[in-house]
Amino acid sequence: MSASVPARTHWIGGTRTTGHTRWIDVVDPATEERLSVVPAGTAADADLAVAAAVRAFGHWSGVPLRERVDAVRAVAKGLAARQDEIAAAVTAEVGVPTVFSQRVQASLPVAVASGAAAVAEDFAWTEQIGRSTVFREPVGVVAAITPWNFPLHQAVAKVAPALLAGNTVVLKPSEIAPLTAMILAEVVRGAGVPDGVLNVVHGRGPEVGAALASHPVVDMVSFTGSTGAGRSVAALGARTVKRVALELGGKSANLVLPDADLLTAVRAGVANCFMNNGQMCWAWTRLLVPAALHDQAVEAAAEAAAAFTVGDPTLPGTRIGPLASAAQRDRVRGYIERGIADGARLAAGGPTPPDGLDRGYYVRPTVFAGVSPTAVIAQEEIFGPVLSVIPYSSEDEAVSIANGTRYGLGGAVFSADPDRALAVARRLRTGQVDINGAAFNEAAPFGGYRQSGNGRELGRFGLEEFCEVKSIQRSASG
Ligand code: NAD
Repeated sequence: MSASVPARTHWIGGTRTTGHTRWIDVVDPATEERLSVVPAGTAADADLAVAAAVRAFGHWSGVPLRERVDAVRAVAKGLAARQDEIAAAVTAEVGVPTVFSQRVQASLPVAVASGAAAVAEDFAWTEQIGRSTVFREPVGVVAAITPWNFPLHQAVAKVAPALLAGNTVVLKPSEIAPLTAMILAEVVRGAGVPDGVLNVVHGRGPEVGAALASHPVVDMVSFTGSTGAGRSVAALGARTVKRVALELGGKSANLVLPDADLLTAVRAGVANCFMNNGQMCWAWTRLLVPAALHDQAVEAAAEAAAAFTVGDPTLPGTRIGPLASAAQRDRVRGYIERGIADGARLAAGGPTPPDGLDRGYYVRPTVFAGVSPTAVIAQEEIFGPVLSVIPYSSEDEAVSIANGTRYGLGGAVFSADPDRALAVARRLRTGQVDINGAAFNEAAPFGGYRQSGNGRELGRFGLEEFCEVKSIQRSASG
């Protein structure tokens, strides 16, 4: 390894590891330059981290709730104190605009950690059912495997509730965006959490991720990532009957009803689809509009897309930075070419690189018109700034198109009639639906139907996910 960039290492039992010989480059997608390196972890590294988590479990699971709540509150404070550093790290490794990193990538984890602490304070840790007392207890050692698109948020959405419930954790961050995991480990230690309660192991999914998912001593895997990798994690976890919570991909629909304010709905839809450089699991990537309004909607979408300035994510005027990796750029461009080949009309963007950006993993924000609901670009998760406008002829058909993919993560309904919007939202087979552009609620359960996963994160539901349930029956005599 060259010494020209700072290396991150694993964090196991409160110690930075040494002696690694294989490394993974962490690359700035805007400059294509190496920012850092992390160890290419092995199954042996996963073993060490799991052993540290097992050792810490006996003590941590018995720490009074009050102390665990205080510790997670201190984590929230510690993250808040380092928000600028966190935002800079996420922009550097993922390529999302600095403004978005500051407003969302760095601040959401603070809200999620403090929200989880508040939920734990009021949580029904015990309840009485007849003669039985039901206790919520920690599941045990949790492997948390996270993606690169919201790297710190995804980690905190697992680590905070897991620790509050008394579990110990081995976190395997994405090898593409691993930088904030070490900041989290430092903050957790600074909050007084004992060594071994949170461990971080770096490496590639099929190696370290798979080792954790199949590990005989890991009790639970909480996985966020692609549906394909989630399927593999579930299969590995099944060998030892682990609890496996999956938060997977999406292909969400923005269903605009005929009575909606079309311009508002389209502009909000484009902004949602292109948020985080279009790399968002619940992004509304399919815009469903009444056939009679299709051309008007396409024109508005293309106009809105043109306002998304692509470029250096550290510049204040940039609204879309590079995609996170070369592989991601090639995949997204491949889908744009596929859309054209399958006969969709290109209304904005396209597969060629944006003008003047010959370095960095950039793609042009793209809008397709007249997309068939069964086309590849309307069925598969592209994970880039690509919007498909799909015409429909009736409300029933719109609902059927919205529900017509293998995914079921998010969605939106726009209508002037709140009752009609709610009725349509209830018909969507997805875990979240936002009506008329309602804001994200970090205390509401987040997760998917069907192949978007089986878990629920955030708020009370997110805490329940990390609890076992025990019933103790007592006889009438006590
Ligand atoms: P990915 O599936 O490639 O990787 C996610 C994590 O899993 C990484 O840490 C990776 O190293 C690991 N991994 C990969 N293959 C593995 C395997 N075979 N066994 C064990 N671990 C493995 O996903 P990504 O490219 O990092 O992230 C993008 C995907 O994540 C998209 O599909 C997106 O929709 C999804 N996502 C879902 C949510 C949600 O809450 N539902 C949130 C964010 C991202």
